[in-house]
Amino acid sequence: MHRIDRSNSPAPAEGYQERLVRGVRRISRSPSFPRPWVGILAALHGNEPAGIAAHRYLDEAAGHFEGTLFLIEGNLEAIKIGERHTRGGVDLNRIFDLSFAGDLSPEHYDYEHHRALELTPILDSLDAALDLHTATAETPPFALALGPQTPIEDSFFQITSLEVADTLPVRFVTYGWEERTDISAGVALARVSSRGPSIAVECGSHGSSGVEEVAIAITQAFLRALGVSKATQTDWPPPRTLELTYALLSRAPRLRFRRTFSSFDALVANEVVGDDEEGEFRTPHGGTILLPNPDVDVGAPCLYIAEER
Ligand SMILES: [Zn+2]
Repeated sequence: MHRIDRSNSPAPAEGYQERLVRGVRRISRSPSFPRPWVGILAALHGNEPAGIAAHRYLDEAAGHFEGTLFLIEGNLEAIKIGERHTRGGVDLNRIFDLSFAGDLSPEHYDYEHHRALELTPILDSLDAALDLHTATAETPPFALALGPQTPIEDSFFQITSLEVADTLPVRFVTYGWEERTDISAGVALARVSSRGPSIAVECGSHGSSGVEEVAIAITQAFLRALGVSKATQTDWPPPRTLELTYALLSRAPRLRFRRTFSSFDALVANEVVGDDEEGEFRTPHGGTILLPNPDVDVGAPCLYIAEER
């Protein structure tokens, strides 16, 4: 642990920081690192480094927050190559149920399996968490509110993920992922969501201009909603709310969409979405598209569908 010397900066914001494991540190204005313990997760996917800008911002402002912030960089090896996961590896943000431990012997673990085991005790200690992502397709910023839709007994925070998400500078808030999609028990936030607010955000598309500023603004608003930050913020229009209704799974190799889909485009039931090795590929359900991506493995969602609530 060491004291951060900010004596040369115009607005000193002294705090304490401690490195826990590689790519993870906790920061606080108190050396006792008091609760609440709030995680800010970045780059669980290595091609999505925007959230690391939020870590840099929090480093500068460490002395301004109540409790303790855990700054967690997810897939360190994939960040180096700018890919979603390591070559030959697996999606780190789908294996936090640790079910692989029963299926694979440790000598067959990929980097991501080791990293999931390393991060799990840290995630299991958090009272709330924000997970910053970017998307393959164009998208306005939107939130994925995970966990129960009623307050959690004995939680540090008597506010739900959905209530926190409604205060964020995003255009849409979505919920219902765990019930109907692969964004469920395997994601990092699933290890936090039974204890307190747990929100993933898509800040924009990978590398788009301004996406780091969006990640920082969302982080500021998240900490304010939890009462961990007292910083004032400007008002923005409340987000619209959508419930996840369906995940369309890629059924064959070489899927190509018929048009360039963006998140929040509309699809109608039975519409031809694209073509793959088996021919025309249709969606049985219509609604609002989220996270379209034709370049997924067969059996994985190539897009999600939601309905406004
Ligand atoms: Zn991601």
